[in-house]
Amino acid sequence: MTDEPWNCSLVMTMDEATIEAFDQLITLEGGSTSFRPDDIPETLHSSDVLVESLRPPTRCPLLDGCREHCEYEPDGDTLQVICDNGHDGQVPIDEYLYIDIEFERLLEKVGDHLGYDIESIDTDPQPRYIVGHTMHNFEIYLIVSPSDYEKTVNEICMQTLIEDRPALLITPENTIDSLLEIQSLFAAGNLIYTTPFTMLSERKEIRHSMATIDEIQEMEQQVIQQNIKQQHPVVYRVNSNPRYILTELNQMRLLRLAGELPQSSGTRLEKIGESTFSHLFAAHPEAGGEDDRGSNLPDSVFYISEHSLPPNFDSVLGIVDTKSGDDAGFGSEPIEGKHDEYLERGRRQAVPADLHAHIFVILDFDGQQELSFYDEMANYYQDNEYMVIFTAEALALVMSAYLSHTVANELTLIDGNFRTAIYSFFHRDKFRDAGLANITREVGQNQEQYDRKYMQREGLLIVTQDVVKQRLQDCMESPGEIENLLSTYYQPMPTV
Ligand SMILES: [Zn+2]
Repeated sequence: MTDEPWNCSLVMTMDEATIEAFDQLITLEGGSTSFRPDDIPETLHSSDVLVESLRPPTRCPLLDGCREHCEYEPDGDTLQVICDNGHDGQVPIDEYLYIDIEFERLLEKVGDHLGYDIESIDTDPQPRYIVGHTMHNFEIYLIVSPSDYEKTVNEICMQTLIEDRPALLITPENTIDSLLEIQSLFAAGNLIYTTPFTMLSERKEIRHSMATIDEIQEMEQQVIQQNIKQQHPVVYRVNSNPRYILTELNQMRLLRLAGELPQSSGTRLEKIGESTFSHLFAAHPEAGGEDDRGSNLPDSVFYISEHSLPPNFDSVLGIVDTKSGDDAGFGSEPIEGKHDEYLERGRRQAVPADLHAHIFVILDFDGQQELSFYDEMANYYQDNEYMVIFTAEALALVMSAYLSHTVANELTLIDGNFRTAIYSFFHRDKFRDAGLANITREVGQNQEQYDRKYMQREGLLIVTQDVVKQRLQDCMESPGEIENLLSTYYQPMPTV
């Protein structure tokens, strides 16, 4: 500890024994934040982080079987007790003494130890966690005693992403594998540095990592500022929201994996779908006087303008439809009075488009019901109308690619235009031309029969993660990058 970047004499550090002792107290297994005096390691006996609290009996402790309310009065080492039944006697005070951890004080100590000034501490989220706002543009989260550990980490990840403020996350768990997995689902790897409490002894390492996160933040900001100057306001929107969209998509995926997805999530998914599509295809103000052609459209409709595309591309109006929330598949979807209304909505738009894509975003397929649903819808489709079904995973992959291409500059496309790359998902003929109609989803039973049926339906475009993967691979300068993208998205991220 000789090459510390700050003046050691001013810093109240904790020695390893103290860190160990605190870690011992706050381990999750116990889940308790209150202890008997005997449980306190000797190292901490004089610690100002621990406070004694007397929890005297409220019911008669004098006679087995008597449950009457009682009063008490401290008297030296004992408590003088009288119960409503008239029992009267003394009990040792020791038996009612507890030691509590003052987590606010502990977090201050951690701040001091690491050499960070903490401005204020928010204890409201206790007992799940507390958070200290530092004067160094990041937060320190200390997980306390949550009843649901994963949920708490989710909450912290969401918080960090929404506020776009880096975080140091300190967990009482000794391994952080599961934590990193959750973080990677939130694409929050470059915002959060996670460390077990015991590793607080590695001060240099932690400070170095937080500094790196800070640098990345700064770089991202610079990229965005530059891009704004270069008249790409869409990039600004990307930063202010798409990371969040990806977070939402990933959270749904997470909840679905855990079987915790609420039934109302269908509507939420459609909303996310809508914002994703409008982000991807937001009208460019500089596109030749066509300024806000898209801005008067309702939320559920987005416009792919031919101006943002190479010559001879059709304009497409995307109509994002909502499936009934409590219905897993397309089996019992009412068509008349609902989905035909969506089509009408598209047809009524003042923006004339060559093609109308009737779009559904779904979490899962239910059997092969989408085929018959499409057949029924097809009766209502006009010549320029067709159906596109996006899975949430496919959408999340599109968003990850978009972020790495537009914000992080990590993904290079052959013609450099992201919209052109993903245009095929929304265009009936281009979808076929790009060979995407041959990528069928796995249905388990009767695969060949399903494949044949699907391919016969030219107005049905099913966009799965495999379809997106194939398309991106075809459009990338180095197709190997897709693996990188996938591993960033699906694998636990290493800490910075
Ligand atoms: Zn009694």
